[in-house]
Amino acid sequence: MIIDCHGHYTTAPRQLDEFRKHQIGCLCGQDHEPEKGDLNISDDEIRESLETAQLKIQRERGTDRTIFSPRAVGMGHHIGNEATSRHWTEHCNELIYRVSELYPQNFVSVCQLPQSPGVRPDNCIAELTRCVEEFGFIGCNLNPDPSGGHWSDPPLFDKWWYPLYEKMVELDVPAMIHVSGSCNPNFHATGAHYINGDTTAFMQFLTSKLFQDFPTLRFVIPHGGGAVPYHWGRYRGLAQDMGLPPLSELLLNNVYFDTCVYHQAGIDLLTKVIPADNILFASEMVGAVRGVDPETGHYFDDTRRYIDQVAWLSADEKQKIFSGNAQKVYSRMKQ
Ligand SMILES: [Zn+2]
Repeated sequence: MIIDCHGHYTTAPRQLDEFRKHQIGCLCGQDHEPEKGDLNISDDEIRESLETAQLKIQRERGTDRTIFSPRAVGMGHHIGNEATSRHWTEHCNELIYRVSELYPQNFVSVCQLPQSPGVRPDNCIAELTRCVEEFGFIGCNLNPDPSGGHWSDPPLFDKWWYPLYEKMVELDVPAMIHVSGSCNPNFHATGAHYINGDTTAFMQFLTSKLFQDFPTLRFVIPHGGGAVPYHWGRYRGLAQDMGLPPLSELLLNNVYFDTCVYHQAGIDLLTKVIPADNILFASEMVGAVRGVDPETGHYFDDTRRYIDQVAWLSADEKQKIFSGNAQKVYSRMKQ
């Protein structure tokens, strides 16, 4: 059993994009509240969008199931107001629910949250609850920077976020930390803003009492943890200088890393530095990097190959990375 914990619906039928373009086009100020509207996408169109992409790749690469969520760069929490974000999020999540109904063996769902800069995260609780309790979703994607590159909201350890964490604990669902698009031209979305978001979130966790307050709260930091594994010595040293406990005690019961690192040397480093208990297999296909690596002849995001190649991981550790850890972290996932 191989579970890919990180996939987005990047191939959704064109009506989704058309809806969004129309919705954004209608915005005429922060007080404007557009109608939710309709998507008008058929089941056949959903099937078609997946059969030639994610499902085909699952078969080719021998993976079984993808933990699936709306397109991350499309979340665009910085666009419009709270109502814009809510309507858009509801549509995106409803579409993911339909995917999981059509292909229950292949996809399990994770929701987008209706975040909006300057709006308390309490406003996400209703949608999270709806997705988990009504639709059977098993987690959420949490944007640590809904402003899209300006970081204008409080850090993740601030009490600002606590009502949402309380709900996550109550529902027993984890969050993948995932920024969306960047509206700041200094930060390329997938090349800089994503990796910055991952690294920044980790440091916010390190300098906080968050996991003393929420011992069962779980976060997945994607894209191999950003810069974190490469700089693990720096983080261990910073924690020590601050008089904090070792990182294993401080964070590693709550923070996990995925394997969306698109070369062998990166996966080698990840698996040497981070304990196998804290690594979840992921590819983020069909995602940010879609080409073939001319050095290997294989797709950059064919991450299963890299893990298969790691000689120092035992069969038991590989099993944890490929499925066991995902089942533990996303505890609502049915076997
Ligand atoms: Zn992603």
